[in-house]
Amino acid sequence: MKICSNCVMPETSETLLFSEENKCSVCTQIEKKNEIDWNKRSDLLDKLINNYKGKYDYDCIVPFSGGKDSTFTLWYLVKEKKLKPLVIRFDHNFYRSNIERNNEKTFSKLGVEYINFKPNFELVKKTMLESLIRRGDFCWHCHVGIAALPINYAIQKKVPLIFYGEPSAEYASFYNYNEFEELNVEKFNKISNLGINAEDMFEMLKSRYPNQKFNFNDFKTYLFPSQRELNINNIKAAYLGNYIPWDVKKQVEIIKKELDWQVDEVEGVPKEYNYEKIECMMQGVRDYIKFLKRGFGRTAHLVSIDIRNKRLSRKKGIELTKLYDGKKPKSLELFLKLVNISEDDFYDIVFDHLVSPRQEWDKEKEKRNTSNFTPKDFNEWIEKFKS
Ligand SMILES: [Zn+2]
Repeated sequence: MKICSNCVMPETSETLLFSEENKCSVCTQIEKKNEIDWNKRSDLLDKLINNYKGKYDYDCIVPFSGGKDSTFTLWYLVKEKKLKPLVIRFDHNFYRSNIERNNEKTFSKLGVEYINFKPNFELVKKTMLESLIRRGDFCWHCHVGIAALPINYAIQKKVPLIFYGEPSAEYASFYNYNEFEELNVEKFNKISNLGINAEDMFEMLKSRYPNQKFNFNDFKTYLFPSQRELNINNIKAAYLGNYIPWDVKKQVEIIKKELDWQVDEVEGVPKEYNYEKIECMMQGVRDYIKFLKRGFGRTAHLVSIDIRNKRLSRKKGIELTKLYDGKKPKSLELFLKLVNISEDDFYDIVFDHLVSPRQEWDKEKEKRNTSNFTPKDFNEWIEKFKS
């Protein structure tokens, strides 16, 4: 498997292209980030904001998980740009308690209004298994919900400007920094929905569970508007990171200081990255599946960001990756219980989704490569889904 000569990302990472010198396309994109005229971008941001500010009930919508990126985005828009946002939160059912505490502090310190939307969990569990079987990725409901819910609220509440935070150019090559990525129908179909729209999911579940009644109304949460609807309603879903230079480490320091945002432990990730993906109980399983399919996990992704920003040596990055990536997480037992499959079934399903040239692996060997780390709130997770 080819690995980038600059960072530690392998060719199985989605959208990565390699140069003749074996450098990956994200490393090349990030080098070019320094050539961007950020003052000009900042002016563009002010122009964009001025087109919307004060014209609607809210100046913008901020889709919000409570992780580092959405928390910084919200802080920045309220404190630096003096906007009145409506915060929209798609609650995928797996938020950890530290995040809930962080959110309460953030909302009250910033004085913002928010809507928390929680979808039907019985249906969520079925979509998790279905998208795992079909795509080797159980997070369909979350990818789609996070994209569709804020945009549907934007139309319904007539608040056309939406701000996401981190641009995907930071970690993938779907878009580069010159393309001013926006969330629209093209991006939704290319990245968010795994090639499964709400109608497809409805049909898939009907055929997998022929004895159960499904109502399409229950799937409407996952419907993304048409491009025509977006255009008529003047919807603009932008990424703040295309207008100000995105620097996760600096931003984490700001939200810690200004909002008392607390970090947390995450399965399969070194302690020094305790700010990353702290929202979701299922993160460890998600990253583990990525490792099985593609041969790298969250640590490879994180050390690569630091290597590109010249904060870590490649040698140290490789060491950390070997230590942390690819260990069977404690949370797998909870996941298997929720989607109601055996551990053998799990490995068999994931094995069907190997990304070339990821080599086949031995199920029994992977089973034994177990992490000895248990998140401190793990008992809470078990308790939450007991029944
Ligand atoms: Zn690279």
